[in-house]
Amino acid sequence: MMGRMVFIAGNWKMNKTVGEALDLVRELKLLLSGIKGVEVAVAPPFTALHAVGQELKDSTILLAAQNLFWEEKGAFTGEISPLMLGDLGCQYVIVGHSERRQYFGETEETVSRRVKSAFRHGLRVILCVGETLQEREGGRTFSVVERQLVGGLKEVGEKEIEKTVLAYEPVWAIGTGKTASPEQAGEVHRFIRQKVERLYSKGISEEIRIQYGGSVTPENIKALMAQPDIDGALVGGASLKAESFARIVRFKEI
Ligand code: PEP
Repeated sequence: MMGRMVFIAGNWKMNKTVGEALDLVRELKLLLSGIKGVEVAVAPPFTALHAVGQELKDSTILLAAQNLFWEEKGAFTGEISPLMLGDLGCQYVIVGHSERRQYFGETEETVSRRVKSAFRHGLRVILCVGETLQEREGGRTFSVVERQLVGGLKEVGEKEIEKTVLAYEPVWAIGTGKTASPEQAGEVHRFIRQKVERLYSKGISEEIRIQYGGSVTPENIKALMAQPDIDGALVGGASLKAESFARIVRFKEI
């Protein structure tokens, strides 16, 4: 089995003006310079992608977008296309984040369309899945995660799955300060990997990276990363300060 490279991504959500984004990314570049053996990405809001992308040109930190629309161009007021993201130097795009599912009507169908379009335009995808508190308490964690996975990967073939990162983000742990315990997260990650094996192959399931997301901090990252099926983190709140994000990226040194 080839080792899976740890992947830590920061989702800045609807935060940071251009000036603030530049301050943050400049600080991050300094704190993370020379770091090896871990892939790092930041996902600023659309308005700061260009400026941050320019700043990252001489850096190994990758640029990600938080969403995309599936059409290339045209009369879709307010939307951003995969072509535009590629033009700004985005390598990754987050698709199916629970906030988009909760507040913006994202469904299995629209997630699948976005994923397909991202790949058609050469972007890599971070596909988010995760259950709500109600679903967990109702014993539906696995069925919900399975439905979201199958739906999101519907149009993803063997070539694209290699460019897909999965993120398990229990909705009840996002922005709440409640982290899933390493065992709770590890159990769902194992389930996701087994599902990928059934959908694709053993080889692919061993290579695909599965991030955990939900109130990740410098204090809890190490225990989460000790789980064999957790390959990285999608970090919200703690990615808004360079110091805490850099400490998460450098978890092995803690
Ligand atoms: C996220 O939005 O992807 C996330 C995990 O947020 P937080 O770290 O703030 O819980």
